[in-house]
Amino acid sequence: MDDCLFCRIVRGEIPATLVAETDDCVAFRDVNPQAPLHVLVIPRAHVASLNEAADAAQIGKLSLLAAEIARREGHAESGYRTVVNTGAAAGQTVFHVHLHLLAGRELRWPPG
Ligand code: 5GP
Ligand code: ZN
Repeated sequence: MDDCLFCRIVRGEIPATLVAETDDCVAFRDVNPQAPLHVLVIPRAHVASLNEAADAAQIGKLSLLAAEIARREGHAESGYRTVVNTGAAAGQTVFHVHLHLLAGRELRWPPG
């Protein structure tokens, strides 16, 4: 998608601090971090949200890459959270599906 912010990050048109790249996914640090570790994991291919998702492997790979990053950054044992906001009421602001990986502080439940 030409004007999608995260597609532009995938294409390298907008700078981002990358933490992982695979054939299917890109992971980069959130520009407005909500925890000491706050990474966004996205598919390279544009999908607006979970509502439009149809490829189980594509969506599953987001979680597995998040787990790998959490492990690599030392949070696998202490714990981390993965979140996919879907739609305006859940706070989705960028309509290219993305998984938030949060760690490094106590994460309360329920979330706000
Ligand atoms: P959402 O609210 O859609 O679940 O999450 C969108 C996330 O993207 C937010 O946490 C926001 O801080 C992050 N974000 C928005 N624009 C940019 C950007 O240009 N670069 C990076 N790295 N993160 C962004
Ligand atoms: Zn996109």
